[in-house]
Amino acid sequence: MAADCDIAVVGGGILGLATARELLDRRPDATVVVLEREHAVAQHQTGHNSGVVHAGIYYAPGSLKARLCVEGARDLYEYCEEHGIPFERRGKLIVARDDGELGRLDELERRGRENRVPGLRRLDAHGLREIEPHARGVAALHSPETGVVDFAEIARSLAREFEAAGGRVEAGCEVTGIAPRNRRVGLVHARGETRAHFAIFCAGLWADPLAVRAGADPDPRIVPFRGAYLRLRPERADLVRGLIYPVPDPRLPFLGVHLSRHIDGHVSLGPSALLAPTRIAHSLAWPGTWRMARRWWRTGMRELRHAANTRSFAREAADYVPELEAGDFSRWYSGTRAQAVARDGALVDDFVLSETERALHVRNAPSPAATSSLALARLIADRAEQGLD
Ligand SMILES: Cc1cc2nc3c(=O)[nH]c(=O)nc-3n(C[C@H](O)[C@H](O)[C@H](O)COP(=O)(O)OP(=O)(O)OC[C@H]3O[C@@H](n4cnc5c(N)ncnc54)[C@H](O)[C@@H]3O)c2cc1C
Repeated sequence: MAADCDIAVVGGGILGLATARELLDRRPDATVVVLEREHAVAQHQTGHNSGVVHAGIYYAPGSLKARLCVEGARDLYEYCEEHGIPFERRGKLIVARDDGELGRLDELERRGRENRVPGLRRLDAHGLREIEPHARGVAALHSPETGVVDFAEIARSLAREFEAAGGRVEAGCEVTGIAPRNRRVGLVHARGETRAHFAIFCAGLWADPLAVRAGADPDPRIVPFRGAYLRLRPERADLVRGLIYPVPDPRLPFLGVHLSRHIDGHVSLGPSALLAPTRIAHSLAWPGTWRMARRWWRTGMRELRHAANTRSFAREAADYVPELEAGDFSRWYSGTRAQAVARDGALVDDFVLSETERALHVRNAPSPAATSSLALARLIADRAEQGLD
């Protein structure tokens, strides 16, 4: 492989690939290379998630998440249509189980309207059953534009397009060192060294060690959270038509355990949210992890119960669809979220980018970053172009 290039992107998930494609589209004569540690693209978060194209309801108005999710969902549907990638606008219900959840549902509705989420409607107990006949609750928000897709398939399509335009994806190429090299940035990896005019790090779970190696502040640190899913028996899958979500705890960046009918027709329940064993020593060495644990220990205990006992996890589903029983579910896949945690223990809510010399780092890109990927890639490319010029 060539030792020099104009732009190197570290990470072959949906974000790295969307960014590489965007930059090559803007600069067709540039040499752009993606360095990916695994044997193929989309092996981490991009290939192990809920597969939901979010519509932009939850996010604080004015935040990057709010803007880029609404924009990104529109672009993603267009991209799928153009490239023949299957998707379905299945529609989502966010269900309030009792009057105690109505205040939080009101706030979600306010955010959704301010974020200009298309087609958002408020439903009463009767109205929600017209959308999901087996669901129960006192009220709901319905988002008809929320959909499902396979994000890994989109990532593979982005990689193919990028390579057809002259870009290179180098798999099995873990970057282990970063050093300045005579007006370039040197990336030391499994197959030698690549020197780039500019480097962009979209490394998910490994974002912070790479950023720190390039000279960035260690705050925030990525703390991996494992999200496990259960699968509903196919004979019972008719009980769920689309996506049924709880009213989430507004203090947490997670949307809560939900029922989703995937693009392949299977119905999942999940994800859980438990501190992941991946790089656990790194997580425990961060003061923010302990501060977070002190604040959220009750939630952590519930998650531990779910991890140990499928039946207790499955019972969450009956809160929304009473006909569902614990025996209807079996263990399925899991994914690990790259969630940034600040030194003070706060879970960082918005997307975060930061810069070092000749490099840009994506420091926090949790959900809905897959939905937002094409819009987020434009923002990253704008920032990278400033650095390049
Ligand atoms: C359980 C779960 C459910 C989710 N649900 C949704 C959802 O429904 N909708 C949604 O929009 N988002 C969802 N997300 C979030 C979404 O999956 C991520 O935000 C998105 O995939 C981030 O993409 P990425 O490219 O940044 O990360 P990743 O896909 O994690 O890619 C990072 C890549 O960097 C590579 N890498 C790391 N270090 C190095 C190195 N040193 N050298 C070379 N390569 C390296 C990794 O191998 C990896 O391929 C979910 C995430 C999880 C885990």
